[in-house]
Amino acid sequence: MAHLSPLLKQATPVIAQRGEGAILWDEQDERYLDFTAGIGVTSTGHAHPDVVAAAQRQIGKLIHAQYTTVMHRPLLDLVDRMSEVLPAGLDSMFFVNSGSEAVEAALRLARQATGRPNVITFHGGFHGRTVAAASMTTSGTKFRSGFAPLMPGVAVSPFPSPTHYGWSQEEATAFALRELDYLLQTVSSPQDTAAFLVEPVLGEGGYVPASAEFLAGLRERADRHGILLVLDEVQTGWGRTGRFWGHEHFGVTPDVLITAKGIASGFPLSGIAASEELMSKAWPGSQGGTYGANAVACAAALATLDVMQREDLVGNAAARGEQLRGRLQAAADGHTAITDVRGLGLMLGAEFRTADGTPDGETAARAQQAAARHGLLLLTCGAWSQVVRFIPALVVTPEQVDEAGDLWEKALADVL
Ligand code: PMP
Repeated sequence: MAHLSPLLKQATPVIAQRGEGAILWDEQDERYLDFTAGIGVTSTGHAHPDVVAAAQRQIGKLIHAQYTTVMHRPLLDLVDRMSEVLPAGLDSMFFVNSGSEAVEAALRLARQATGRPNVITFHGGFHGRTVAAASMTTSGTKFRSGFAPLMPGVAVSPFPSPTHYGWSQEEATAFALRELDYLLQTVSSPQDTAAFLVEPVLGEGGYVPASAEFLAGLRERADRHGILLVLDEVQTGWGRTGRFWGHEHFGVTPDVLITAKGIASGFPLSGIAASEELMSKAWPGSQGGTYGANAVACAAALATLDVMQREDLVGNAAARGEQLRGRLQAAADGHTAITDVRGLGLMLGAEFRTADGTPDGETAARAQQAAARHGLLLLTCGAWSQVVRFIPALVVTPEQVDEAGDLWEKALADVL
């Protein structure tokens, strides 16, 4: 009998049967608070009635048309509506299917538009699992090891990560910018560097927000040297951080913006946005793909945008994020094993370290598993998987946040 490959690593044994908002039920009708949201994807929650209705309507009309053969209305409407949320000047978009694909598309765009070969990424960044995306990923060797040869032309510079270095935010930022200048002087000269590729908040790398000074430093160097600032907002976009885009917290706008995950509430869709001027420097036909901008996914994205605006999900992410942060901080205050609670909006992590400061993935995993036994689904992240992360759907209610706080405390009482 065929079976699911053992090369997949399952975070929980749950077999999901149905979902509603931030709740999942398994095949035995056991209820779980889902604070994973399909790794930050189900922005409007599981089975939001408006998203379901929009997708069902579209399925009955047209599922697939291949958007470089014939266009379709949901695609054109989505591009039109994206101007409501995209930063000023980023008025040109195309779509593919996944975060990794969008990262690679952005790399190809940056190389064609600048005529330069190299990309500088930042230590701890996660940009996907395809070979080029994995080449730019440094959030853990598990995403790279054994896959060599990886793509050349990638130089890695430090990300300002205070708890990693044991420094203040200011010290970590000054170090990161100093090392970037060193890298531009010694490894990848500006005239060979097409892009800086960075997440506004390290995601898989441990839920570490960048600092405004760091991103402003990248922006300034990008402008000075004709390097493109490419922001990977795959995880931080669509309200996750309590602003529509993660970069809004820092007052820095990108040249190229990559979005995926929350965009279509679970349908596979990702997009790349830049100025028309930049996009015009790439060759017509240089990007595309069979399934990109699937009509049902575009209809779901339109419904997602409607729901986000009508229910003010960005505002809810900010408010529920503060509530959740309070609960996580209170729980951490009782346990020395949790050395940091951090993140933005509903992208929060609790970091575990041993008494001597060593990242403690083992205790984080035991806490994550204990939480699942109590009915709270969580994931870990960080190079040592030492951070337990909390990313519920943006529709999560105050009562559900409180319930999650209670269950987290129970889980911690079990393992600490
Ligand atoms: N970039 C970031 C910041 C991500 O968090 C992820 C997924 N976790 C990706 C890229 C890759 O996306 P996908 O899994 O859809 O390929």
